[in-house]
Amino acid sequence: MISIAIHGGAGTILRSSMTPEKEQAYKEALQAALNIGYSILEMGGTSLDAVEQAIRSLEDCPLFNAGRGSVFTADGTHEMDASIMDGKTLEAGAVAGVHGVKNPVSLARLVMEKSGHVMLAAKGAVDFAREMDCEFRDAEYFYDEFRFKQWQEVKGSDTFQLDHAAKKDEKFGTVGAVALDKAGNLAAATSTGGMTNKRFGRIGDSPVIGSGTYANNNTCAVSCTGSGEFFLRSVVAYDVSCLMEYKGLSLADATKETIQKRLLNIGGDGGLIAVDAKGNISLEFNTEGMYRACKNSKGLEEISIYEA
Ligand code: ASP
Repeated sequence: MISIAIHGGAGTILRSSMTPEKEQAYKEALQAALNIGYSILEMGGTSLDAVEQAIRSLEDCPLFNAGRGSVFTADGTHEMDASIMDGKTLEAGAVAGVHGVKNPVSLARLVMEKSGHVMLAAKGAVDFAREMDCEFRDAEYFYDEFRFKQWQEVKGSDTFQLDHAAKKDEKFGTVGAVALDKAGNLAAATSTGGMTNKRFGRIGDSPVIGSGTYANNNTCAVSCTGSGEFFLRSVVAYDVSCLMEYKGLSLADATKETIQKRLLNIGGDGGLIAVDAKGNISLEFNTEGMYRACKNSKGLEEISIYEA
């Protein structure tokens, strides 16, 4: 059994604010990333490779708030966060507040495999990326007209906003992937530009193992998207795994409990994608929409944006 799910962010994504062309562009980008990940699994590749490569494809697409399409910080720069976790070994890697790196998810994987650490931040993480010969891009590559306008709306204020909860109708988002490979190994990864107009080196849940990302072969692999502060406080990804491990809940029940009850109870909005050790998939969110796609070897294939 092989299974993969990806997301491109959750938020106020309304049918009424989408044009058919935009909807098509999102679906094509999700389909392309899904195909990349699924074909790796189909050929017997690892879930780690599948989630990393699926995310790289989303990071390279300016539609999503990760890699190339990352939102602007209050200083007009881009600070990206990413993480990856191997459910077989419980090894994990993460980077926070990095700039110029073309694919932060691959840097997170290098942190896991080559640094002897789990999380590197800011300048140190960028120095490590240079040592590892990662691909870099200049500011022009990360410039996006819409993102710039999005930032101008809140620039100079104390407001920092979730990319896909912006006042404007256009919504974009953080990206994530979870997968189960033929060998029965789970993996999860998440990548983001964070929140528009963020200041003070703000870091969200995406690079924090247990909050935005978690994988354990005994339970599940999870990648989250939404208001990071709430996901950090709820330790969402690990909570899903714990509900399965300690309480014996199914993946569907555990993700529902976490997103529809525990997160909502403290006012948190967002969602997650998850796959369990049997290949079951859950795409749970408490917002109007979540860019999402999934596929398994039992014939399931779905690409969706809105709630219903
Ligand atoms: N969770 C991300 C953060 O708070 C944002 C997102 O999911 O779009 O940085």
